[in-house]
Amino acid sequence: MANKRNHQIAGGLAGLLKVAFEDKDRTDLTTNEKIMRLFIGAGLGVVGGMMPDILEPADNPHHRQTAHSVAFASLLYAMNFEIKKKYPNAFIISDSLFIGYVSHLSLDSETTMGIPII
Ligand SMILES: [Zn+2]
Repeated sequence: MANKRNHQIAGGLAGLLKVAFEDKDRTDLTTNEKIMRLFIGAGLGVVGGMMPDILEPADNPHHRQTAHSVAFASLLYAMNFEIKKKYPNAFIISDSLFIGYVSHLSLDSETTMGIPII
């Protein structure tokens, strides 16, 4: 079972990789800007990776409810999509948070209890 540290690492890596793939072919950014964006992506990925357990603390075996559900993740995906449409430059923030969040649910889904659909 993934603990808080595992969720932070997975979220950070997910956020970092997301930004790395997004920025790999961009020529309008300096190397320093790319490095800064990697740190931002990783940091926000860590935050996103902790969010489900912040919203529903892991204080009992049945703590995984709405915020740990596939339906809630789908809602976040739709919100992320709308945010990116309205604020295209905010993708680094919203995508990193979202992918960190999804990394948490992915790790939790590997456990015996799994995650709820709704
Ligand atoms: Zn969890």
